[in-house]
Amino acid sequence: MKKSGIILILLFTSIILFSQDQDSVLIKRIFDEALSSRIAYENLRYMCKNTKGRISGTIQAEAAVEFTRQIMFEMGLDTVFLQELMVKRWVRGDRETATVRSGLSGDHELTISGLGTSVGTGKEGITGKVVEVKTFEDLEKLGNENVSGRIIFFNRPMDPALYNTFHSYGKAADQRTRGASEAAKYGASGVIVRSLTTSLDDFPHTGVLYYENGIPEIPAVCVSTVDADLLSSLLKEDPDLKLNLVSNCMNMGEVPSFNVVGELRGSVHPEQFITVGGHLDAWDTGEGAHDDGIGCIQAIEVLRLFKVLGIQPKRTVRAVMFMDEEIAQRGGLKYAELAVRNNENHYAAVESDGGGMTPRGFGFSATDKRLESLLDLKTYFEPYGMNQFSSGGGGVDIGPLQQSGTLLISPETDMQRYFDYHHSPNDTFEQVNIRELQLGSAGIAALVYLLDKYDL
Ligand SMILES: [Zn+2]
Repeated sequence: MKKSGIILILLFTSIILFSQDQDSVLIKRIFDEALSSRIAYENLRYMCKNTKGRISGTIQAEAAVEFTRQIMFEMGLDTVFLQELMVKRWVRGDRETATVRSGLSGDHELTISGLGTSVGTGKEGITGKVVEVKTFEDLEKLGNENVSGRIIFFNRPMDPALYNTFHSYGKAADQRTRGASEAAKYGASGVIVRSLTTSLDDFPHTGVLYYENGIPEIPAVCVSTVDADLLSSLLKEDPDLKLNLVSNCMNMGEVPSFNVVGELRGSVHPEQFITVGGHLDAWDTGEGAHDDGIGCIQAIEVLRLFKVLGIQPKRTVRAVMFMDEEIAQRGGLKYAELAVRNNENHYAAVESDGGGMTPRGFGFSATDKRLESLLDLKTYFEPYGMNQFSSGGGGVDIGPLQQSGTLLISPETDMQRYFDYHHSPNDTFEQVNIRELQLGSAGIAALVYLLDKYDL
């Protein structure tokens, strides 16, 4: 090779190294600012304490829309706007009760909660013998004669042996989502489901259920894991015991609601979008701190970090608060529908919905070629403990963008404690650690900065 060629290579390498160095310095400034600021944490506190109960279709959900719209407006973003959509309105009503009546051991109150979109039992409630099962195959074996008129008790725990708690959740969730319709096929009068949590606690962990078309809609509740164990042992002692369930929930049609969007306009490609989102709705029994107040607040914080540090993205970066993730995912569907209708080019989308525990890295759903360069970014994040960069990422709300080829990304967090909080009264502001929250915000901001700068 000629001398001039060698000099050129050396020059090129040193430009790259200089640029990497500059990026590391900027990323450090992002983390410094995030870890030194209390703004995001206080925003989360406000959201948890003042819009508690914000399941879609409620006035609390509308208060959360207004709160996030307001804070993004006050940040002086380029645009803040709402996307209207229709959501189902489901109302819980008075607190549900479940009373075991046993001729042998007397009465026992169980800690329960109605499942989302469940019908109620009526004022008197329903009373019946209880049949404990683990799977839908158990129901089939029992058949109509052993199920009809009974209350079916689904008692299959989340598998504690799996490292990935989301996999364990996925393996157990059918009892909650489809148990009512499966039991109703054999004439059951109601359903009580063991809470989907890896902890043994006395909180009911609720969540949505889906009724199958053409099958009678029967009431369904979840019971705390402590009381699921109690009910199971009471049944062994007295198989003839009866359970009285009272719930007052109702489905009340549909009402309008909104996604909330804030934008920092791109300096080079304003017509290309990078979305950073979380979902605004949350189950009414808790404060929706980990699920998913943190996702919304981190998205807003990413834009604040860009503004405060004077980072000018080439593409338009959006913070999006999706509505209705928990019941019918209408917010994510509306967002993708509008993207197609408005001919928007969605370059990448990040959804933070795995809880606000210690960030570990990112998952990416991308083509092999794109994935390779994304995985190379890992070195920038190692100083902050985020070294798990892997294939496979996304989220319920950004999922519908994938059909247009959008790169989908999910922040990965330490998942061992997530189901201690998930969908329960234990999901409160106090369970979020300010440093873990802000490491998450800074990590997302740094990733968005890099993939925008290097067109990854
Ligand atoms: Zn969630």
